[in-house]
Amino acid sequence: MGKKKKEVDDRFKKFGVVSFTAITKVNDFVEYLEQGKVMGTQCKGCGRKYFPPRADCFQCLDSNMQWFEVSGTGKLLTYSQLQYAPLGFEADIPYCIALLDYGDYKVFGRIAKDLPESDLKIGMEMKTRAIKLPNGQLSYEFTRV
Ligand SMILES: [Zn+2]
Repeated sequence: MGKKKKEVDDRFKKFGVVSFTAITKVNDFVEYLEQGKVMGTQCKGCGRKYFPPRADCFQCLDSNMQWFEVSGTGKLLTYSQLQYAPLGFEADIPYCIALLDYGDYKVFGRIAKDLPESDLKIGMEMKTRAIKLPNGQLSYEFTRV
C-alpha cells in the first residue's frame, strides 16, 4: 500500500469571506479576483446566472457552467451596518453590507469604506470592484459609479 499524497486546492483561503463552499470551481473565483475581476457562473443550459458562483445549476441539475464577469451597475436593494464582523474582518467594523440587483442576478457584499452610510440611498446605482484587503486577502466591494 503506497502512501497517496492528497492534492489540496487551497487557493480559496486567500479569500476573506468564509460563506462560500470551498470547491475547485470557486477557487477560480479567487484567481479572477487576483486579476481584478469579480465573476459569477452562468449555466450554459438555461442561462441562469449565479452569484456567488456555483459549480452546478440547481435548475438543470447539471454542471455545464461558464464564467461571466460582474460588470456594469446594480441597484442598491438593501444595506445594513455591521457592528460585528465575520472572522477576518474584525478590524474593519463598522462597515455596511449590501445587496445589489443586477437584473438577472444579485450580488451580496460590502460597501467600500470610503463611502459613508449617509451617502447610501436605496435604488442608487453602484458597481462591484475587486479589492485586496490590508491583510492580503482578496475580496470585492461596492462603490459609487
Ligand atoms: Zn441551468
